[in-house]
Amino acid sequence: MNSVKENILESSVQYIKSVGPKRAESFAKIGIKSIRDLLFYFPSRHLDRSTVLTAAKAYSYILNGYEGEVTVIGKVVEREKINVRNKEILKVQLKDNTGFFECVWFQSAKYFYDVFKEGEFFAVSAKPVIDKYDRFQFVHPDFDRITEEESQSFLHTGKIIPFYRIPKELKARNIGDFSLRRIIAYAVEHYADEIEETLPEEILHQHNLLRLNEAIKNFHFPQSQELFSRAKYRFKFEEIFYLELLLALRKNKIQKKSKPIKFEIKTELIKNFLNILPFELTDAQKKVLSEIKKDMLSDRPMNRLLQGDVGSGKTVVALIAMLIAVDSGYQAALMAPTEILADQHAKNISSLMQKLNEVNKGKKVKVSLLLGGQTNSAKAKREKENELLEADIIIGTHALIEEKVSFRNLGLVVIDEQHRFGVKQRADLLGKGLAPDVLIMSATPIPRTLTMTLYGDLDVSVINEMPKNRKPIKTVLRGEKKLPEIYKFIIDKANEGYQSFIVYPLIEESEKLDLKAATNYYEELKNSYLKKLNLGLIHGRMNWREKEEMMFRFLKKEFDVLVATTVIEVGIDIPDANIILINDAHRFGLSQLHQLRGRVGRSNKQAYCILVTHDKIAARQSASELNFEFLSPTQLENYKSSVRLQSMVKYNDGFKIAEIDLKLRGPGDIFGTKQSGFPELKFVNIAEDSEIIFEAKNSAFELISSDPTLSQKKNFLVRKKLLEQYKENIIYADIA
Ligand code: ADP
Ligand code: MG
Repeated sequence: MNSVKENILESSVQYIKSVGPKRAESFAKIGIKSIRDLLFYFPSRHLDRSTVLTAAKAYSYILNGYEGEVTVIGKVVEREKINVRNKEILKVQLKDNTGFFECVWFQSAKYFYDVFKEGEFFAVSAKPVIDKYDRFQFVHPDFDRITEEESQSFLHTGKIIPFYRIPKELKARNIGDFSLRRIIAYAVEHYADEIEETLPEEILHQHNLLRLNEAIKNFHFPQSQELFSRAKYRFKFEEIFYLELLLALRKNKIQKKSKPIKFEIKTELIKNFLNILPFELTDAQKKVLSEIKKDMLSDRPMNRLLQGDVGSGKTVVALIAMLIAVDSGYQAALMAPTEILADQHAKNISSLMQKLNEVNKGKKVKVSLLLGGQTNSAKAKREKENELLEADIIIGTHALIEEKVSFRNLGLVVIDEQHRFGVKQRADLLGKGLAPDVLIMSATPIPRTLTMTLYGDLDVSVINEMPKNRKPIKTVLRGEKKLPEIYKFIIDKANEGYQSFIVYPLIEESEKLDLKAATNYYEELKNSYLKKLNLGLIHGRMNWREKEEMMFRFLKKEFDVLVATTVIEVGIDIPDANIILINDAHRFGLSQLHQLRGRVGRSNKQAYCILVTHDKIAARQSASELNFEFLSPTQLENYKSSVRLQSMVKYNDGFKIAEIDLKLRGPGDIFGTKQSGFPELKFVNIAEDSEIIFEAKNSAFELISSDPTLSQKKNFLVRKKLLEQYKENIIYADIA
């Protein structure tokens, strides 16, 4: 019985009424082959009658001060392109049984002129206005073309009408809004009930979820607004639920594979270390440290994410964790994303350890640095190997995993992460038979919802406080024409001992051109505005040692200004660099801007971040709302740039910045599916669906903790779906 049912769903869409072999080919081109595929081709949006008003009603609403969005349905009676100050404006008159209304476009008049043909019916939605000639208008409305028949049924039967994306492959076969809707309606009516459920009864019941067949029906043709919401809810829940199951399984596997290490604080090492630190830990650092300690001193393996804003002091926390491992006789490794950072960490940590070794009576802590391709001769290799075996703290890049390093007894790995490779690195470690405790430090703050998905299998510690001596950085946005004044500011401040970064975005992919641009900027500044100051230059063609040397010379105050055409390597502290000027700031991503800003403000002096952009963008002050539905791609890009820049001015808090970034970029982009090894999200919006994510996560983790191998009968369904649909994502799990 079951297999017969499945066959129907797997059969070609060509058997659906009014499809046929030719149209089936076009469907196949957009990935819809079977009837099942068609059932899962969901509308991109709906029109709901409950928000539809007659023209007369809508008009009286606004007269009475109503300010929300309304939808009105009408027939196009006239359209007209008008020239106003060399710009084409489009006005379209529509009418329904109660009166007339007008739609206006100030952009893309030509395009919309062709859309709004006389005699056709449209549902238009927007916040209506009454212009100074008392005309009732919709400016740049959202709209949908509907049939006359629909316009009637819409008003009388209260249907909610779906709208589907119609790719060109379908248009080429004359499939438009109406015909696609009809085809899908047929499929839903005849086949939706054949679909087998994919969530366990218990879960459906606990969360009051619609069954899959009902959810499919109501996602396409909702019987009511409420059922439509529940249908969406179910799909979102299911999507996150399975993703979290993968995470829960992964967590389980890692825990099973790890030989738990129970660290002990045996000597005065940590206490002495705290004594030689030139500052006291913030309360937030202490809190986070106690969470880490609890993991390490118990016999549970640690898998923890350490979050904190740029400059919040994550490194010292990680270092103390490493010292706990060392105190117990284990080795600890710190893995940095770049060589310059690894080298930097090694220098800082070595000098701290030197001080520690002077006062600490017991064993001397040995630090060793490992970079890729460092050693050539066999003898040097052997020596390095011995050094690594004896080292207590090993610092390096991913070479730590990739090269054949043999550790003495690796107890803890700290991953200073920049590119979300932590997941893979952890798996690689396990693959080498190493199962140390793991602490991942995020380079920039991550919104909570993203943490729950991307890092859902880790425990999380957050440093939510900056060291006390810091003053908030002053961030301003300026147009290019202000540059001369800004240079003057930099010179004045240089006389007070301030140093400045001047950053230019990478202009060309080609390093040659970049070098040319960098040299040009540098020469130009040196010979004009900044000729009284000492300038240094860092550019993309330098290798990391050359870059590092420039940074050191900057640190030693050989230069007042460091010109950089490559993103300045994170992590190096230059306490007197308290001005950063970022040119063409609109070309940087938001978290990148925040990272760059984090290069300054690392002392008790007032720091400044000056964002310079086109005069036009700088003048735009109102881009704070994240509503960009009606913009052309170029407008959208400009708009997003404005929001990014305004957000930088408005907020210093990296977590707030990260949230806005997530909204602007969309999860797909941030998720970096390939890197994270997760399926792409189709229904859930990480920026908005935090409650669903939370609920589905808890539910998934509970299920796995009660049935880690998914062998209970009631969970067979889950197991089957995981093995069928998430084959590729399941590599880190242990259920097969
Ligand atoms: P991030 O979290 O961005 O990695 P770092 O660990 O590099 O930040 O710390 C930034 C700077 O703040 C470093 O110079 C560090 O020595 C200093 N720092 C860390 N903790 C404190 C503290 N509690 N008080 C004062 N300065 C601190
Ligand atoms: Mg850091």
